[in-house]
Amino acid sequence: MRKILILMAMVVLTGIVANAENKQIASPDGKLIVTVSDADSKPSYSISYENVPFLKSSPLGVVANTGDFSSGMLMEKEVKTGSIDETYQLASAKQSLIHYVANEAVFSFSQQGKVIYDVIFRVSNNDVAFKYKMYPQGETLSCVIEKEATGFAFPDGTTTFLCPQSKPMVGFARTTPSYETPYTVDDTIGKNGWGEGYTFPCLFRNGDNGWILVSETGVNGRYCASRLLGHEGGVYTIGFPQAGEANGNGTVSPGIPLPGETPWRTITVGKTLAPIVETTVPFDVVEPLYSASENYVYGKGSWSWIIGMDVSTNYNEQIHYIDFSAAMGYQSVLVDAWWDKQIGRDKIEELAKYGKEKGVALYLWYNSNGYWNDAMQTPKGMMDNAIVRRKEMKWMQSIGIRGIKVDFFGSDKQTMMQLYEDILADANDYGLLVIFHGCTLPRGWERMYPNYAASEAVLASENLHFSQGSCDNEAFNACLHPFIRNTVGSMDFGGSALNKYYNADNAPRGSRRVTSDVFALATAVLFQSPVQHFALAPNNLTDAPSWAIDFMKQVPTTWDEVRFIDGYPGRYVILARRHGDKWYVAGVNAQKETLELTVSLPMFSGGDELQLYSDDKALQGSVKPIKLGKKKELQLSIPSNGGILIMR
Ligand code: CA
Repeated sequence: MRKILILMAMVVLTGIVANAENKQIASPDGKLIVTVSDADSKPSYSISYENVPFLKSSPLGVVANTGDFSSGMLMEKEVKTGSIDETYQLASAKQSLIHYVANEAVFSFSQQGKVIYDVIFRVSNNDVAFKYKMYPQGETLSCVIEKEATGFAFPDGTTTFLCPQSKPMVGFARTTPSYETPYTVDDTIGKNGWGEGYTFPCLFRNGDNGWILVSETGVNGRYCASRLLGHEGGVYTIGFPQAGEANGNGTVSPGIPLPGETPWRTITVGKTLAPIVETTVPFDVVEPLYSASENYVYGKGSWSWIIGMDVSTNYNEQIHYIDFSAAMGYQSVLVDAWWDKQIGRDKIEELAKYGKEKGVALYLWYNSNGYWNDAMQTPKGMMDNAIVRRKEMKWMQSIGIRGIKVDFFGSDKQTMMQLYEDILADANDYGLLVIFHGCTLPRGWERMYPNYAASEAVLASENLHFSQGSCDNEAFNACLHPFIRNTVGSMDFGGSALNKYYNADNAPRGSRRVTSDVFALATAVLFQSPVQHFALAPNNLTDAPSWAIDFMKQVPTTWDEVRFIDGYPGRYVILARRHGDKWYVAGVNAQKETLELTVSLPMFSGGDELQLYSDDKALQGSVKPIKLGKKKELQLSIPSNGGILIMR
């Protein structure tokens, strides 16, 4: 990591325009403007982009057990401002080398003559991040934040693309929330999901003016994670976890020391979806919390569970999958639930040794539980306790395990955020990568925790196995994630199946894939995670098209850059990712009609010979060379449930 320059200076109203009670901070390019106010003694802020309102006057403030600091507040005249210019590397995220340039302003708010908190804003060209810093009051050196007034008031006519928060302690083995409910798109503002608000990130469309993504980052064991609560009139506010989560254990309200800080609330604004697809704000405003204990190896792998389910977690089938990963040139196999019972520790050691000879490392699944839900899958009772967990991790390190996949968290309370962090920190001590499943959205974790790989927090590939309805909606969902869930963090989807049917014989029973093979390949590019366990099966070596297998052998899982090309959430998506000097343009179409459009591909050169993977009307895929013209434009045709891939 290389820091070029961080400047902070005590400046009184420099670069800040003062009205009677309004102060402003602008992005480096001057287009994005945040106005902060204490009108009516209530802290508030608003956001405009190129003079168009994107957030109306929206509330700021907190209610703590030490007082109500959402009203009766005065903004101090003095504003500390500074500029940030930082370059950092992040191999596990959407962009490998990130240059963050932002202006910072610190607005202090007082009550009865005492400064209670600062609101720290950082504004880059398309992103706003802000957090509170609370100060000690006399001898009071800790407090409980009972409520945040923090809100987001959208202009009239804004529409929403939101994932409703589940009720707690329902669903499979009372494991919810798992932050993976179905999205509602193109909806009106002023609703509140299923009565419990919405799961981050939350996407809004400001009519023809553009798009707004609201999320949070920098959440660790020192606070809870939050959701977004909807209110009539189009105001959304920060909501803390539900009391019933984790079987009612743990508090809803986070406790902080004084001085102490909240996580960052983030708002990404764009006239198009490009700033949202390409945003790095979840990583820009956080810091690594420890150093990597080793050079972590990401990459591709296979896992038997997605096609073969629980019975496939046996020794012979895992040998089969290790051989399959080796044949694909993949780096790993994920051994899913019940391995302790159905394979046993001695045989796991043999598998690890066998894999090592083939260049294939193992990931092992664990139940996070614990005492907070009824998930029965084993091994359990190991990841929730530091003594047992570290002993287990030491054993894993001794037999060369690559990483762990830990499942069934089901809460955003501060106690659970502490568990996520403790698992990550301990795993780093033993050189293990961490994938979370049945879990919350990562919030800056790629940068905060160097051994963090990915999280589910999405209606992932398992649902394609579980129900035909999910298969029928596969394309719709695939056209949401690149614009919403995957914009702020690595997404462990576990997809790109080439089986026609989700069973080990690939025979006509169970759920049937309705998307094309090119679609499957395209999602390997559209869905970003530095570690991918694809839903491929050994039979695909012989029953899938050779061009499809060849592509899945070479597709990268780490990327240097991403560019939005075209699309609309839930309808279609086309974006490009770069690995080294090679660009991968990928697209899928969820609309009933064939998508016909002309795209501009400035990442290539005129005259370039490109490989085009595309589908015919019957969703039969093929690969053919095409020559890019001088205008660097291509006419594309993508049938419903089909895909496209373009590479040089
Ligand atoms: Ca799940």
